Amino acid sequence: MSKQNLQTDSALYKTTHALPSYLQPDNLGPWGTFLNQVDRVTPYLGNLSRWVETLKRPKKALIVDVPIHLDNGTVAHFEGYRVQHNTSRGPGKGGVRFHQEVTLSEVMALSAWMSVKNAAVNLPFGGAKGGIRVDPKLLSRGELERITRRYTSEIGSIIGPTKDIPAPDVNTDAQIMAWMMDTYSMNEGSTSTGVVTGKPIALGGSLGRREATGRGVFTVGVEAANKIGLTISGSKLAVQGFGNVGSIAAQLFVEAGAILVSVQDHSGAIYCGSGIDVRLLQEYVHSQGGVAGFPSADSINSTLFWQVDCDVLIPAALEGQITEENAPLIKARMVIEGANGPTTPAADDILAERKILVIPDVIANAGGVTVSYFEWVQDFSSFFWSEKEINARLVSIMKEAFDSIWETAQKHHVTLRTATFIIGCTRILRAREDRGLYP
Ligand code: NAD
Repeated sequence: MSKQNLQTDSALYKTTHALPSYLQPDNLGPWGTFLNQVDRVTPYLGNLSRWVETLKRPKKALIVDVPIHLDNGTVAHFEGYRVQHNTSRGPGKGGVRFHQEVTLSEVMALSAWMSVKNAAVNLPFGGAKGGIRVDPKLLSRGELERITRRYTSEIGSIIGPTKDIPAPDVNTDAQIMAWMMDTYSMNEGSTSTGVVTGKPIALGGSLGRREATGRGVFTVGVEAANKIGLTISGSKLAVQGFGNVGSIAAQLFVEAGAILVSVQDHSGAIYCGSGIDVRLLQEYVHSQGGVAGFPSADSINSTLFWQVDCDVLIPAALEGQITEENAPLIKARMVIEGANGPTTPAADDILAERKILVIPDVIANAGGVTVSYFEWVQDFSSFFWSEKEINARLVSIMKEAFDSIWETAQKHHVTLRTATFIIGCTRILRAREDRGLYP
């Protein structure tokens, strides 16, 4: 190839560097949000900014057809994805989501946030994510197992304990990880516990993994509260999403004396000014599938949830929930992003202007992948740690990461999100530069 072809105004350069439509920043959606966040951090990356293009493209994106026999004898086809955003610092790592609204744009963004998150807490992983566009609530247990196994088999060539390690995310749990681990192991011909994390304890899962994301949310929440002079005991808490992340985070805040005043999930929203009993709500959601109809609280309109009088707001459901429309209504002093990508860039600006502290997803929910890392290490060494040790290490990593993010934010006068991106992207691009380009 002649040097001429590499000029930035050459046709070849423009063709190879033109972003496909689904990668365009003005194509709103989760990937557009991520690109916007990268643009915001670029001025702070110094010389490494010449590598920034690497963050704007996923390294590998696999789309798979997942056909299964339904219980009624027909065959149904589902679309599945596994995206490895960046593997400069280590194997891909990130969850698998089963949801009816999963798209390639969403999985790309989720994989990219995993890259930044893993680098921000200094785990030796790149970023990856997967998903299937399906409403698993409509599947029988047998159908759920078949879709999980066929999906695992289809992405089997790109995952592995040293390549890319899936974990639970929305609507996936330890049982689904067990099926994934078994399918991968059967195809490989040997038991491979390290291919997924978030497994049942009997299969090499880690104590404390189920609670880890919520515990991380709580840990950084307490650190941030100390910084802004907010006392957790007696503070009012509102939580969107009452699944793995939201319910555990709420429980830990309530155990520390916070009052859970409102919860919203896919089924509806509830409010009780004197406090919702978090244990009773966990049992209710376990048996009823959602918070709607919880007897000891009032049912409120889902949109009113965002206006609830509270000190701490934890979005722990899906992306794009805090928007230009509801950000001006939020009363909390602090938003802790348990979910990935819950705040749009425009809403981020509104919250910053209103001096509402946002603890971004890329640090707030890093507790899950941190204990996934512990699980992976334990599987490799076949030596398992106590829950006390796991929780102590988790808390220490989260506090250390939060402190350096706080300092970075103060130093550059930027939001905690941009500060986390500065730390994470610098580490990723430093690795990129040190490795160089192959060939
Ligand atoms: P989950 O499946 O256990 O719970 C999801 C919750 O979101 C449920 O309460 C559900 O009712 C609610 N929800 C779904 N659609 C909704 C809607 N349209 N409006 C309001 N609520 C809705 O999932 P999870 O594991 O708790 O994950 C929640 C978020 O946390 C996701 O963004 C996920 O990516 C992120 N996260 C999870 C982990 C983990 O370890 N599980 C780690 C890091 C980040």
